[in-house]
Amino acid sequence: MQYKNPPNTPDARMSPPESAYQSVLARVARAAASAGAAPVSLLAVSKTRSGSAVRALHAQGQRLFAENYVQEALAKQAELRDLDLEWHLIGPLQSNKCREVARHFDWLQTFDRVKLIAPLALHRTPQQAPLNVLIQVNIDDEASKSGCSPSAIGELAVAVAACDRLRLRGLMAIPKAHPDPALRRATLRRMHALFETLRAAHAGIDTLSLGMSDDFEMAIAEGSTMVRIGTALFGRRD
Ligand SMILES: *Cc1c(COP(=O)(O)O)cnc(C)c1O
Repeated sequence: MQYKNPPNTPDARMSPPESAYQSVLARVARAAASAGAAPVSLLAVSKTRSGSAVRALHAQGQRLFAENYVQEALAKQAELRDLDLEWHLIGPLQSNKCREVARHFDWLQTFDRVKLIAPLALHRTPQQAPLNVLIQVNIDDEASKSGCSPSAIGELAVAVAACDRLRLRGLMAIPKAHPDPALRRATLRRMHALFETLRAAHAGIDTLSLGMSDDFEMAIAEGSTMVRIGTALFGRRD
């Protein structure tokens, strides 16, 4: 017997497409639930995207945004001053940009050398909350990437923890996009082990920033607490 929808009854197949945002949120939540993990934060990577694209995502409920280039971020922040957004820097930090980062960002995810501490602390005003800091680890030891070696984490962590204008929150890495998923997974595991070691040594460590559009579910399964997503939210970058 054949059933037909009566006229004017919405057919499930014709319901409006879920937004990219809703779909990413659902995938993150599902991965976190099956990992038995605490809720995972979704960081929207807005590099190269317009202020209006950020505004549109904020209108859907997104509050955490990340930029790679300080100048690009400052322009967007100025344009979006009326919104309550949290800004993360995820690109390498040059020493001469410490002042702008201390003044205009909530998180620095690419801290990788002790000499950044003094200028960051100097420019983080007493009216501001301490700058949240993640230590970036060059986990695959790639010459092209910034980040410290795993053996340097301990010393950097002690130095950040001693500064009252900075608040050490955890670790970040950009693992090599290795075609073999087993090797990618092994790298994520090494990061998670380093994170657990840091957590045992310092109070307030709660953030492991790992996972991008094409591997965030695997990263969550391996213990990531914050995923950084651009393409899956905004589409391909030019
Ligand atoms: C661009 C970028 C991302 C987002 O990458 P997608 O593949 O577009 O999700 C995440 N982290 C860092 C450090 C980036 O530079």
